[in-house]
Amino acid sequence: ANRIVVKVGTSTLIRQNSKINLTVIKDLAHVLSNLKKSGKDVVLVSSSAIGVGMGVLGLETRPVKISRQQAVAAVGQAELMQIYNEAFHEYGMSVAQMLITRDIIDYPESHTNVMNSFQELLSMDNTIPIVNENDTVTVSELDHHTKFGDNDQLSAIVANLVDADLLIMLSDIDGFYSANPLKVPDAELIQRIEKINPEIIAAAGGHGTKYGTGGMTTKLKAAELILKHNQQMVLTNGKDPEIINNILAGEPVGTLFT
Ligand code: ADP
Repeated sequence: ANRIVVKVGTSTLIRQNSKINLTVIKDLAHVLSNLKKSGKDVVLVSSSAIGVGMGVLGLETRPVKISRQQAVAAVGQAELMQIYNEAFHEYGMSVAQMLITRDIIDYPESHTNVMNSFQELLSMDNTIPIVNENDTVTVSELDHHTKFGDNDQLSAIVANLVDADLLIMLSDIDGFYSANPLKVPDAELIQRIEKINPEIIAAAGGHGTKYGTGGMTTKLKAAELILKHNQQMVLTNGKDPEIINNILAGEPVGTLFT
């Protein structure tokens, strides 16, 4: 794989005590910087603006009001990018913030502009684009016209857009199981999925953590988009970002959608 999109979920980036997991971010910066230096094209899609914002503002629970969530996300996004910036600087990398919305699919001009920006950024030697949804522009979580719903689908759209060889989705679980392991302890890891059939969809149940949003349902939607474009996706645990190297070495890790 020469062009890789990595999506890191809130459940990986935020600890249960609302604190950001700096170790994971530093390790992620290390692994991705090395890949970039070895000539690979790397895009990072990062969630957690709301989770980070909650920590900055000292909020215990996620706000209910959409406008409040947008405000918290705006606070968190600045903090998050500062942390990424520092982490990547350690390895001589700059980060580029790309905040995008569904407009890039609906409007050809927006689509072209984003494509061109990606092309330029990917051609730079020491720069890693970090993508997130522009939460202040997307009006409502329920409005699917403007909102991706979550970064899972956003990461698949980005992978489509840049024609990535692989989408790596890092979560707080080792892969896709026959049922939610939180509820069904003897659920089994499915190593390979070639088609998102009703049986698979039925196996995706419930949200994992108080910070994570999409759960497996949106990850399956992302996988569907990836398979539709004849691309590949690996879903695995992001607690140790070194796992990205194992995946790229061809080791069987997590769940491969192919
Ligand atoms: P992220 O923040 O990484 O996007 P989420 O919390 O949204 O993560 O989703 C991951 C969670 O999905 C897991 O922790 C798990 O509890 C839940 N889940 C539900 N169904 C399944 C399944 N079939 N296999 C694996 N995890 C599942």
